[in-house]
Amino acid sequence: MDLATNILLILVGLIVGSFLNVCIYRIPIKKSLIAPASSCPTCEYKIKWYDNIPIISYFLLKARCRDCDTWISFRYPLVEILAALFAVLVFNKLGINLWSVTILAVIYMFIVGSFIDFEHRIIPDGFSIALLIVGLATCTINPHFDGGLYSLWQSFLGAFIGFFGVWLIAYVGEKVFKKECMGGGDIKIMAGIGALLGWEGVIIALVLSSFFGLLWIIGLILAKKIDEDNSIAFGPFLFLGAIVQFFVFRGLYEFSIFMQNFITL
Ligand SMILES: [Zn+2]
Repeated sequence: MDLATNILLILVGLIVGSFLNVCIYRIPIKKSLIAPASSCPTCEYKIKWYDNIPIISYFLLKARCRDCDTWISFRYPLVEILAALFAVLVFNKLGINLWSVTILAVIYMFIVGSFIDFEHRIIPDGFSIALLIVGLATCTINPHFDGGLYSLWQSFLGAFIGFFGVWLIAYVGEKVFKKECMGGGDIKIMAGIGALLGWEGVIIALVLSSFFGLLWIIGLILAKKIDEDNSIAFGPFLFLGAIVQFFVFRGLYEFSIFMQNFITL
């Protein structure tokens, strides 16, 4: 893809990222995503357009509100950078077509869902329902599936395996550790992810998610930063596992070969 197109993708990605930040802040507190215009959560100072330019404003303002000096979270530029990065990655890898737009929209939902889960320990049901609908509705253009009506069955099966796979892990985990390991939100979100990835993809995504989650927990223990209730938000890892599966592994066969090489390394 040529440089001009990529620059355009970065600019559009940054602007969408700015909107994703609005979603992350407003969805959990059930505020409208459109009106009113953004304001500082502390002093309610209406943010001027020149203080609302993705990334640039954050650094010009030195991460502080112009009015009350309240610290602005690094999440804002981070989400904008992620949104631009994925726009470039998805369109360069998959070309400009409806499927790329679908996948990018799904990744943007993952980003919003992850930050909400990190901050509020909840994945709103709307995310799971939207993912499930997108997965089923786009099954015939999904390159993971074989096409036609059969795709619908593959999408359904993925949703089913995703839902019951996580349910089983949650059930076993609860029996073994005598406490809730995964929330209902995680189980529902995996149905939506399964509808997009199919049954093989969703199993691989689950294995990867557990692996990433485990690495994170080990990191937290080493840094002595584990929460008082000894739990983590698992949603972000489910999303990460799904993204890695999507871009790296096609099926269980390729995944098993990779795992064999990884283990014998
Ligand atoms: Zn302020």
